Amino acid sequence: MLQPILREEVMSQNKFVRAIFPGSFDPITNGHLDVIHRGIQIVDELVVAVGDNLQKENLFTGEERVDMIRELVKDIPGVRVERFTSLMVEFAKNIDAQVILRGLRNLTDVQYEFQLALTNRAIGGLETVFIMTGEKYGFTTSTLIREVGRYGGDVSGLIPKGIYQKLKEKLENS
Ligand code: ADP
Repeated sequence: MLQPILREEVMSQNKFVRAIFPGSFDPITNGHLDVIHRGIQIVDELVVAVGDNLQKENLFTGEERVDMIRELVKDIPGVRVERFTSLMVEFAKNIDAQVILRGLRNLTDVQYEFQLALTNRAIGGLETVFIMTGEKYGFTTSTLIREVGRYGGDVSGLIPKGIYQKLKEKLENS
């Protein structure tokens, strides 16, 4: 527990914390949404930042991904959605975010996220805060949803309802 005097000091700083939750969200899943819901409980503002993962080919365009997420989070106070195409830490600085928020599903994520977090601190001086996946979402990845969806598998339980419709339409037309 914090010493009373220290606690008072911390409280009196009254610091506003804006976090950035960057990802490709192609498409957004129930796992991402869960991280957003829990993330906004611990920061004052959460900016969901939609970028492009250069190692993956996009299914949805950046604009489509932004629109889909905006619709889903429009009623969550303190959450907004932005598109970025530059270096993530530069974008984070431009929007005055002090913290990067990321989700962790398993040890494979830890290995990758560990490197990413150290790199982002080295090049941008930004700390990363991690949220553990919800028990139900530990195996949910956008990559698998795209792949299973392509082969006609039922991924309706893993992504929000509206996104499932959009995914079906997209796959039918691609
Ligand atoms: P990227 O392509 O940059 O990894 P993603 O859209 O795949 O972007 O993921 C963005 C963030 O959300 C990452 O930190 C990832 O670990 C996290 N994430 C993705 N799916 C889940 C999930 N099911 N539970 C918790 N975190 C998740």
